[in-house]
Amino acid sequence: DKHPVVLNTHSLSARYGKVEALRNANIQVRAGQIVTVIGPNGAGKSTLLNAIMGVLPAPGQTEGQITYQGRDVSHDAVEQRLGLGLALVPEKRELFSTMTVEDNLVLGAYRRRKPGWSYRDGLEGIYTTFPRLKERRLQLAGTMSGGERQMIALGRALMSDPKVLMLDEPSLGLAPRVMAEVFQVIARLRDTGVATLLIEQNSRAALQVSDYGYVLEVGDITLEGKAADLAKNPKVVEAYLGAA
Ligand code: ATP
Repeated sequence: DKHPVVLNTHSLSARYGKVEALRNANIQVRAGQIVTVIGPNGAGKSTLLNAIMGVLPAPGQTEGQITYQGRDVSHDAVEQRLGLGLALVPEKRELFSTMTVEDNLVLGAYRRRKPGWSYRDGLEGIYTTFPRLKERRLQLAGTMSGGERQMIALGRALMSDPKVLMLDEPSLGLAPRVMAEVFQVIARLRDTGVATLLIEQNSRAALQVSDYGYVLEVGDITLEGKAADLAKNPKVVEAYLGAA
């Protein structure tokens, strides 16, 4: 199987106190594929990614299982999940604004320990992908533009050498040209076997780049299928793609 399942959730639920943000979600992510979750604001999309990464909600507020490479990681700490190959670019990019671009990138590699590997190698790769970051490597992250900060956040996630990359609204605030670049990066990663779980306001662009998709509505997955089929589904077209 060229695309084995690397990540799946089984009946994953998450709540913030009394607010039930996600109910019994079953999703599957395969190696070398891009999977998108579309849905309206507040549907629970960010919650899904955060719960898979283990950053939110608070312990005891999630139920169900998260299986990564056949192993139940539901109770693992964020650092452990990161070390195993899960990485998240959160919607709030959470950069260290008073540190340089390069130091922000290097932080992404802090769980990456492989004999003979140096963070310099990782940086080389990131700088090849994002030459702009190389030019600005000594600039403080907080003074970079919105689009550049997105690149830093993505680059930092890539520094951990993820097997599953989760992206929360990667195109938010990006000019169309930069957004196209980011999508190209994701597509290239797919070709190297990395799996991407993508949340994106622009549902049309998300379905175009993805292999598979889920529709999440007020905490429930209401529809799933091949991305190309979802893009033609009348319900999806009406609710999320608008008039062509
Ligand atoms: P958007 O597209 O607007 O970012 P989303 O689909 O990512 O939305 P979530 O951010 O996961 O949705 O939010 C799902 C629900 O959980 C919403 O009702 C939201 O108000 C609530 N929620 C999210 N984060 C928290 C939090 N930290 N504390 C309390 N409630 C939260």
